[in-house]
Amino acid sequence: MLIDGRKIAAELGAELTGRIGALGHRPGLAIVVATGDESTAWYVRSLLRTAEKLGIAARRVDLPHDSDAGTIRGALAQAAADPGTHGVICQTPLPHGLTLPDVAAVIPPELDVDGANPVSLGLLAAGVAGAFAPATAAAVLKILDHEGVELTGRRAVVIGRSNVVGKPAALMLLARHATVTVCHSRTPDLAAVAREADVLVAAVGRPKLVTAGYVKPGAVVVDVGTNATPDGGLVGDVDTAAVEQVAAAITPVPGGVGPVTTMVLMHNVVTVAERGR
Ligand code: NAP
Repeated sequence: MLIDGRKIAAELGAELTGRIGALGHRPGLAIVVATGDESTAWYVRSLLRTAEKLGIAARRVDLPHDSDAGTIRGALAQAAADPGTHGVICQTPLPHGLTLPDVAAVIPPELDVDGANPVSLGLLAAGVAGAFAPATAAAVLKILDHEGVELTGRRAVVIGRSNVVGKPAALMLLARHATVTVCHSRTPDLAAVAREADVLVAAVGRPKLVTAGYVKPGAVVVDVGTNATPDGGLVGDVDTAAVEQVAAAITPVPGGVGPVTTMVLMHNVVTVAERGR
């Protein structure tokens, strides 16, 4: 069974429209961009479109593509200081090999709607209620919950250990009482480990790495990977056609995790506004 991420996103969007209407004002989202990367630009345009449809005032803060850490931190702090802002996110890749943790510590955790501040990851690890997880990791859990996938006591395997997807997804699965294994590029016999999973999350960035031999019959597979193809398309980390024959359910790429991620981000912005910044 293919899990329809667009349908889940539409349901979340309908719920958000009602919540935004009840607020009586437009929540604000600031998107700081210091890159000319084409796929980032595509993603930002899609965020702006979704925000507009929902009634969220999203604005793009463009910085020179050679900005240093101080400049990016300054822009993030300035955006956060604006009382009309209910969420601040910073797009990657960053110039000069900078990483998100190099700059995102200036985003106050209460406005850190994409869980980029290392403090947010710490709060998530510590199980502090109300902390924001990175939207992609939260989208993985949102999809599993929407599909009614039982997590307590089940074996979950996450392939990938980045701060934005693999690590927070593993922490969230752990918080939901799954028994979690995290794999990475140095995991020997990845296929054998993956085959232990009742719930398999692939967040790698390698086209079709996960083949049918990686999947236990009846497992649920969430494909986070987004890999550009030479013809301008997108494929995931999972060989969907082959794995579909084995898995109970699988998220497609495109149309799986991506649209849900966007709505989780918007949900987080609305949550900040509801908390009364
Ligand atoms: P990342 O920072 O590059 O991390 C990739 C992880 O995969 C690393 O932990 C790496 O291991 C591991 N890995 C690489 N090759 C491997 C292999 N052959 N076997 C096992 N593990 C391997 O990437 P990311 O930011 O987490 O993103 C992962 C994927 O998700 C990408 O395709 C990205 O485009 C996509 N993504 C999608 C969304 C969405 O909304 N749908 C959002 C964010 C990201 P090491 O740690 O050992 O290097």
